Amino acid sequence: MDKPTQLNQSTQSALDIIRGRGQANTVLLVEQGRLSQAFLSRLFQSLGFEVVVAKTIDMAMQQLQKADPILICMNRYIDGTDAIVFACKIRATGCKIPLLLLTADKTDQIRTKALKVGITEVLSKENVSGLAARVTKFVQDHVLPNLARGHVLYVEDSRTQSIVVIKLLKSMALIVDHTTTAEDAIELFDKNINYDLVITDVLLKGQQSGLALISHIRGLTNEKSLTPVLALTGFDQASRRIELFRAGTNDYIVKPFIREELVVRVTNLISNKLLMDEVNRQQKLLHEMAITDQLTGCHNRHGFVEISEKYLADARRRKEEVSLLMLDLDFFKDINDTWGHDQGDLVLRDVGRALRDSCRGGDIVSRMGGEEFVVFLSNCSKHDAMAMGQRIRKTIENLRPGDLDITTSVGVTTIPAEHAIDIDDALAIADKAVYRAKKRGRNCVSFKACL
Ligand code: GH3
Ligand code: MG
Ligand code: MG
Ligand code: MG
Repeated sequence: MDKPTQLNQSTQSALDIIRGRGQANTVLLVEQGRLSQAFLSRLFQSLGFEVVVAKTIDMAMQQLQKADPILICMNRYIDGTDAIVFACKIRATGCKIPLLLLTADKTDQIRTKALKVGITEVLSKENVSGLAARVTKFVQDHVLPNLARGHVLYVEDSRTQSIVVIKLLKSMALIVDHTTTAEDAIELFDKNINYDLVITDVLLKGQQSGLALISHIRGLTNEKSLTPVLALTGFDQASRRIELFRAGTNDYIVKPFIREELVVRVTNLISNKLLMDEVNRQQKLLHEMAITDQLTGCHNRHGFVEISEKYLADARRRKEEVSLLMLDLDFFKDINDTWGHDQGDLVLRDVGRALRDSCRGGDIVSRMGGEEFVVFLSNCSKHDAMAMGQRIRKTIENLRPGDLDITTSVGVTTIPAEHAIDIDDALAIADKAVYRAKKRGRNCVSFKACL
């Protein structure tokens, strides 16, 4: 099978926008054949879509409601029914999304019939090599143009000017919110919408000017303060330009302007914004990976220290006590030696999951290394921590991962409210508590005070 072709840059960024803002980007694949299913799923996923598979028409109709797909890709026959019949059924609901029919027959035999009932395109599966390229082209031509490429806040008090600009922006597949005053714009901006661009006139109706809006945005302390701004001004004076750039605009255009100029400046600002969003998304992902233990999905030591230091500072401010549980599995080396390292890994994975399931949202579950886990319990007294330690000890005893008997020794320490201790010292004390539990015969819970 051939390799999926790449989307070009602009369609790729259109998809990035959709992903970045959590808009629906699901393809409904109505297909029974396992091979076709796997091939097409992989293809659509590589193009950045989510894929939902339906094997029957009933399932497909359900998913049409539930998954709100942006494309339906279907096989010629579904569960013994002709796709033409299925297409009629879909169109009868008023649904207008693109329908792609894949058929092993010659396409010209059914194309006319298919197009008549509202199928958007028919592609042949006969020549598999090249199918990916044809499906990709279909996506580019019929799916992506339907998707919004960005969300713009446009502030302009002149009616005639705004009619022209809104029409132009909409023709660029942008969603446009329009206000005539800076006050309304600020209110909209602060609501929970993440705009990809703000375009503002300088002189506006109302008390405040476009400059005040720009200053407001730049003065925010969240990510929204980085939203790109394009100012539209009637005055082409150096002092006005400097004033605008000082306030934090990214770019400006002098009115009256040429359509093309607005188009390229808007496109550039939005593309840069999307690039930044993508970089930030990847940075978050990398950070997430750096603080996660790959085997168990718990935090790793690095993540534990990073997060617990913050939690500890919060707890001190709120005058709350916190507790640490340190777990060290008993005779774990024997499990590896007797049943093999893979079985040992399975045990660690199951213990990690059991610990996460036992904890609250504000707790931190971490694998510190080897067969050692730590749980940070927010706002938790010695009494509650000891109870939790016992509960977890029992959970592990009853867990029987891979049908094996395992137990754990648990060390507990509690950091009193307002007690100044750093997390490494607290961990060392919890470690001593574990050592006590081991000496007492393992599979038990011991406490050591944090003084
Ligand atoms: P004790 O009850 O005294 O804690 O005995 P133990 O055998 O659990 O302690 P020991 O420190 O002697 O052994 C820990 C073992 O954990 C040794 C090492 O092979 C194993 N181990 C460490 N990391 C991993 C891992 O990622 N996967 C697996 N399967 N085993 C690991
Ligand atoms: Mg004006
Ligand atoms: Mg150990
Ligand atoms: Mg051990």
